[in-house]
Amino acid sequence: MAKQLQAIRGMNDILPEQTPTWRYLEDKVRALLTAYCYREIRTPTVESSAVFSRGIGAGTDIVEKEMYTFQDRNGDSLSLRPEATAGCVRAGIEHGLLFNQVQRLWTMGPMFRHERPQKGRYRQFHQVSVEAFGMKGPDIDAELILLTARLWKELGLASHVTLELNTLGTLEARQKYRTDLVAYLSRFEAELDEDSRRRLTINPLRILDSKDENTRKIVADAPVLQDYLDEESKEHFDGLCQRLQDAGINYKVNPRLVRGLDYYSRTVFEWVTDSLGAQGTVCAGGRYDALVELLGGKATPAVGFAMGLERLVLMLESLDLVPAPVSQSVDVALVSMGAGEKLMPLVEQIRDSWPELRMLVDCSGGGFKGQMKRADRSGAHYALIIGHDELDAGVITVKSLRDDTPQSQVAVAELVDYLKTRIQE
Ligand code: ATP
Ligand code: MG
Repeated sequence: MAKQLQAIRGMNDILPEQTPTWRYLEDKVRALLTAYCYREIRTPTVESSAVFSRGIGAGTDIVEKEMYTFQDRNGDSLSLRPEATAGCVRAGIEHGLLFNQVQRLWTMGPMFRHERPQKGRYRQFHQVSVEAFGMKGPDIDAELILLTARLWKELGLASHVTLELNTLGTLEARQKYRTDLVAYLSRFEAELDEDSRRRLTINPLRILDSKDENTRKIVADAPVLQDYLDEESKEHFDGLCQRLQDAGINYKVNPRLVRGLDYYSRTVFEWVTDSLGAQGTVCAGGRYDALVELLGGKATPAVGFAMGLERLVLMLESLDLVPAPVSQSVDVALVSMGAGEKLMPLVEQIRDSWPELRMLVDCSGGGFKGQMKRADRSGAHYALIIGHDELDAGVITVKSLRDDTPQSQVAVAELVDYLKTRIQE
């Protein structure tokens, strides 16, 4: 027998029982972003690999180890997007949306990273990615954080997440810091864990959030980025902190928060939860003033974040915060005997006069008894029965499936009014 086909490891099917939770979350996010006047952009799932290697940084975990990269039939190197920002910036430059303009954009969809699958970490996962271009002051950083805080409140998650905040300063300040950090860490090179040793030359800042105990001890005495900050970055950060305090948002400044991507400067933040085990970050972002220029556009200030939907769905489920799903129940089940080709036009006529009616039509062509059984199992309130007699007389038999109201025959033209008085809209 042929081997059973299966989904790719780490790439999940989202089954019909789960989609109402997803829709609930997505609808909330969409409504909120619309209220803050962010506009949706949709970019391709596949981009030239250079969009990511140049944008995210060749020395980052994502590009170095996690990206799905392949050659297409023309021999071009393409990658499945591991995140959405680089593609969004690519599109913004290509279509002239960024230069000298203010843009608030968002997108939602699947991302791909070849990581070790575990709870909250998958190879295909979904993000909402939000980007704001053309604004350099801390107001917009604050707006993005306040927007997410409002979302947690609306979802009932506010008491389960905390905000961590840091500033990375300008790229120049970071460069200088990087040199000193590497000098310091090189003295302990032999004692560092293997990953950190490798990062020493390609991405030394990532060593700061190493999970290795010995490395952490060494890092504890390393120079701190905060001592290298330029005046303007300091002011920007203080401005953001002040705005958050005034808005009543609690946060913790975490000097070790560096984020995995090269393109950040100044503000970085993460919303973390302890209700998901190890995969605790549900939303992460920051300022990336250098990215637009790096990808070939004119220098444009930018700030954004990405939210992991799987982790939020897991939280909503485990905290039992999913409201009873918007009813997907069946209002009426239609069974028929011998109506032949007359059935579907009649059904459509009913739908024309009440498009929202949830009418399940039995198309299985089985016997009457079986159809009635299925109608009952569907949970419908009424069965609509169409047979020879009904067709001849221009009526439909309406039979209650939930109580012993006697069945009645209703003229097709009057059916919708008849049903409306009985079924709550
Ligand atoms: P982590 O440290 O958990 O690997 P990251 O820094 O790589 O996260 P980002 O690139 O900032 O994550 O992505 C933003 C958000 O997307 C994360 O906070 C998380 O909620 C979600 N996310 C990232 N990678 C995955 C994944 N493999 N599976 C599910 N969600 C993910
Ligand atoms: Mg990661």
